[in-house]
Parts: sequence; structure tokens; C-alpha cells
Amino acid sequence: MPGRFGIFFPTAEFDTMEFLEGSMKFNEKLLEIIVCPECKTDLQLTADKTGLKCTGCNRVYPIDENGIPHLLPEEASIEE
Ligand SMILES: [Zn+2]
Repeated sequence: MPGRFGIFFPTAEFDTMEFLEGSMKFNEKLLEIIVCPECKTDLQLTADKTGLKCTGCNRVYPIDENGIPHLLPEEASIEE
């Protein structure tokens, strides 16, 4: 579907990878408003930016490829 593709990448100079990486980036401003659903403690972005770690119960919630954090206790892993 070339016409549709042109909407997302309108010029040859457009840096496709930068665009894709930008779209996957977690919005760190969310950290100011979201808390751990288990213990209501603040969350911190992990060093590799693929998860959010609770400073209270050490649960790590995954961030998906779209930059959306999954704040579900059943998807969390506990990191010591
Ligand atoms: Zn917690």
C-alpha cells in the first residue's frame, strides 16, 4: 500500500529508525502520576528502560514495544 506508506515517511531524508525509536519511547512524565497497583509506591524506570520498578515491593512491570507500561500484578516480576 504505497500511498499509505507515504503518509508515514513523506521524504527520502526522513530518518526511519529515529521515527520508530521515538514512537516506542516511554513517556517519563507518566512516572509522576502512576504508582504500583500492589502497594501504591512510586515507580522508577529500569536502567534498560524496558520496565518500571516499584521501590516498595521490588516488582518490575514490563513496558511494551509501544511504550505502554503494563501495571498488572500478574505480568510483574519481582527483582531482588
Ligand atoms: Zn509495589
